[in-house]
Amino acid sequence: MLDLWLKEAQIDDVALTYKIEKTLIRKQTKYQDLAIVETKRFGRMLLLDGIVQTTIMDEFIYHEMITHIPLFAHKNPKRVLVVGGGDGGAVREILKHSNIDKVVLCEIDEDVIKYSKEFLPEISCALDNPKCEIFIGDGLNYVIEHKNEFDVIVVDSTDPFSVGENLFGGSFYKAIFECLKEDGIFIAQTETPFLLPDLVKKIYKDVEIAFPIAKIFLAGIPTYPTGFWSFTVGSKKYDPSKFSKSEVPFPTKYYNKELHEACFVLPQYIKDLINK
Ligand code: SAM
Repeated sequence: MLDLWLKEAQIDDVALTYKIEKTLIRKQTKYQDLAIVETKRFGRMLLLDGIVQTTIMDEFIYHEMITHIPLFAHKNPKRVLVVGGGDGGAVREILKHSNIDKVVLCEIDEDVIKYSKEFLPEISCALDNPKCEIFIGDGLNYVIEHKNEFDVIVVDSTDPFSVGENLFGGSFYKAIFECLKEDGIFIAQTETPFLLPDLVKKIYKDVEIAFPIAKIFLAGIPTYPTGFWSFTVGSKKYDPSKFSKSEVPFPTKYYNKELHEACFVLPQYIKDLINK
């Protein structure tokens, strides 16, 4: 029997390897090399340009943390924009909040949506919900063209090394600020502080320039390099680290109200990194 291993090297000197049982789809889309494979340990896995985006086993951690933190910090979110996120995991979590009227998903690559619907139904299951509007296009352009429209913006992007590059940086965060309403909150996945400290620091500093409140929190995500992942939040009014409700009204697997506040407590080397 063939012993097939996938090597994922997000940076050029560290790699993670996974035992692969089957390749379900591999396609060069208009923007990237898309693959969905069946792994032995993590179940189905979506890769873009060879980089792990999500897996059936650990996706709940990332998708719960990138959505419930801003949605439970905001007092009354109604309209949410997801930039990227074509697998649908963020939309699925957002629509667990009954007060949400509308989610717009702005994804550049329609093939990510198409193949996530076909091969990752556990993750993409809310993309056909009538409250979800799908827009195929570039996130930066969308944000620039829609001012003062959203309560929460979730930037669920690929890494800043390929098609997702323009979703990182000061001019994008300024446009996000203007796309939010006066008490809006934005969140982005912002890479590993252990391997990419300069990048994490730069993102934090750019968000700090664009927003009156900027904070970083951490979550443990086994299939992202080092397992140690950062998210950066920019807020106009609410403290992102405060849980604004009395309880979480639906079941979760990772997120809870104690963790909401605790995940913002940073190890000393990360505090030093962003405060320098
Ligand atoms: N959870 C993931 C991670 O951190 O690895 C991100 C997953 S999601 C699949 C990322 C999506 O962002 C991809 O489907 C990609 O096509 C989309 N994307 C990249 N650049 C974009 C852009 N400029 N505008 C809109 N979507 C973009």
